[in-house]
Amino acid sequence: MSGAASTGERGVTLAAARPIADGLFVEVGGEVRLLGSECGRCGVVTFPRQASCRRCTSTAVSDRLLARRGTLWTWTIQAFPPKSPPYAVADPEAFEPYGVGYVELPNEVRVEARLTVADPDKLRTGMAMELTLIPAPGAEPDVVTYAFRPVEEEEAQ
Ligand SMILES: [Zn+2]
Repeated sequence: MSGAASTGERGVTLAAARPIADGLFVEVGGEVRLLGSECGRCGVVTFPRQASCRRCTSTAVSDRLLARRGTLWTWTIQAFPPKSPPYAVADPEAFEPYGVGYVELPNEVRVEARLTVADPDKLRTGMAMELTLIPAPGAEPDVVTYAFRPVEEEEAQ
């Protein structure tokens, strides 16, 4: 399980990379944070940001930096190339399976994201996960997107 495209590297920063899209994540104090929105009327949190609340339709929403850590709510391994379009698949033969899941950020929102782990033996529902950046699949080498990785055991103790 090595290879730059499947491993979240500590130290990947936005200074030397381009986000895959504007407004998804920002770097604050050297840490990458997902950028969500919070409704000023009912408090619901969404990701990605929305201009109006999905629950009460209020437009009194403001940006909110989401927690960097959460727990794995559900996951799967994408074992075959996703349909194209929308996913660009230059070479289906070169496809490598990857993990994908929902990470529940406490009292905020469940975020769908790539996982840095593609080994089912290393994933379990409820495990602690942390935000990271990975090279965006199928994009230019300096383009990054967000992903979640398991929090290392030593950090969790
Ligand atoms: Zn609302």
